[in-house]
Amino acid sequence: MAKTLDGRTALVTGSTSGIGLAIALRFAQEGAKVMLNGFGQPEDIAKARATVGAAMGVAEAPYSPADMSRPDEIRAMVQACQAALGGCDILVNNAGIQHVSPVEDFPDDKWDRIIAINLVSNFHAIKAALPGMKAKGWGRIINVASAHGLVASPFKTAYVAAKHGVLGLTKSVALEVARSGVTCNAICPGFVRTPLAEAQVKPLAEKHGVSEEVALTDHLLDRQPTKKWVEVEEIAEAAMFLVGANSGSINGAPISVDGGWIAQ
Ligand code: NAD
Repeated sequence: MAKTLDGRTALVTGSTSGIGLAIALRFAQEGAKVMLNGFGQPEDIAKARATVGAAMGVAEAPYSPADMSRPDEIRAMVQACQAALGGCDILVNNAGIQHVSPVEDFPDDKWDRIIAINLVSNFHAIKAALPGMKAKGWGRIINVASAHGLVASPFKTAYVAAKHGVLGLTKSVALEVARSGVTCNAICPGFVRTPLAEAQVKPLAEKHGVSEEVALTDHLLDRQPTKKWVEVEEIAEAAMFLVGANSGSINGAPISVDGGWIAQ
């Protein structure tokens, strides 16, 4: 049976775990050829490649170890994707890191890395992949931003600044590509059950002297009205919608998947 993404090629950054892995797997299950990227233990990367590869009908999905803080490696990754898969029709800029600290104590190197990995990498990947998409007359760029691209929280200055920047980049690129068959959108998740977010629960429990359960519902998810994690499959579903058959008129949009967070 024909699948929605048969014949499509995709590159998902930061896809060795969490949201990126769920998106890569979903795209592969829908027929796309997918290249993975990201860090991790060799056995975890091998497992991700095998899982996504199985959905593609191969032993292992292609993988780039490119560091998203390095423009030269980002350019080489896009070229490697085009060489390995025959194109890069869909680009998902997903790799990201977090650091939580009062602004006056925020380490300079952490600020620089968050801006580089969460924002600047998106620019370099889009710049490298867009000419191929335009030449084909079809392309989909999805930037995984955050609810923190639309509203702020204290102690996350670099992350909030980067994610607000991602939405600005998304809108500007969307205007540039509007007549080319390419779209550029952002997904804005609330708190999603992944290693990046789960790592924030324990420090909150210690800070407030409460159990991890209370730290989750009353502190981390204080502004997520559902009081539940968003699941990675729900983000993958939103990504799937944006690359599906009838999404060509969605362009420059922040798609919230946040349990109602920014409705407040
Ligand atoms: P995660 O930690 O599970 O995954 C992050 C991925 O990025 C991993 O594959 C990691 O190896 C990769 N990565 C980190 N630094 C990299 C680098 N320099 N080069 C290449 N890859 C690198 O986190 P996640 O929660 O799945 O986050 C994915 C994206 O979703 C991030 O952009 C994050 O900001 C965003 N997001 C997450 C949440 C959440 O609650 N989990 C909420 C909103 C937005």
